[in-house]
Amino acid sequence: MTFRDDRPLCLYCNGGLEKRGERWFCGECYSKLIPAQELRDLINEVSPDDWRELDQRLMPSPRARRMCPLCKTEMTTWSIYDVPVDHCDAHGVWIDRTGDTTIILANEQMFKSRNSGTPRGAFVPLGIGIIFGALLSPWLDRRRLRKDIERTSPPKKRR
Ligand SMILES: [Zn+2]
Ligand SMILES: [Zn+2]
Repeated sequence: MTFRDDRPLCLYCNGGLEKRGERWFCGECYSKLIPAQELRDLINEVSPDDWRELDQRLMPSPRARRMCPLCKTEMTTWSIYDVPVDHCDAHGVWIDRTGDTTIILANEQMFKSRNSGTPRGAFVPLGIGIIFGALLSPWLDRRRLRKDIERTSPPKKRR
C-alpha cells in the first residue's frame, strides 16, 4: 500500500509542509513559506527608523532557481542580509531553515548599532562642544541610517 501525501513538500529536506496561519512550515527543518507582507512586518518591527517594503530589501542573488512548493512555478532568487530567499509572486517568500531569524537579528543589530550613540547633548548641559554635538547628532543619525539603507537596498535600476 502506497502512502499518498498531497501536502506540499519542503524545498530543503523534502518533508511535508504544514499550514500554520498564513505560513507553510516544515516541522523537520523549520523551513517556511511566508507571505511577503508578514516577513516585511517582522523585519520592520525591529527597525522603527527604517520601514521599507520588502522589495526594497531584496538583494539580487543569482543561483539555481527553485519551484514554489505550492504552485510549482519558478521562484526568483534574492537575499536579505546575505540569507538566500526565494520569492513566488503568488505565495510569498521561501526561507530555508531558520534564515528568517538570522535576517531579523541582523536587522535588529544594525538598528542598535546606529542608535547606540551617546544621548544627544542632554547629559552635559554646558560647553560649546556639547552644544555642537547636540546639533550634529540628528544629522549623524540620519547619515548612518541612509548608509545602512543604501547598503541593504537593491541597486538602483538606472545603473
Ligand atoms: Zn524541511
Ligand atoms: Zn507559488
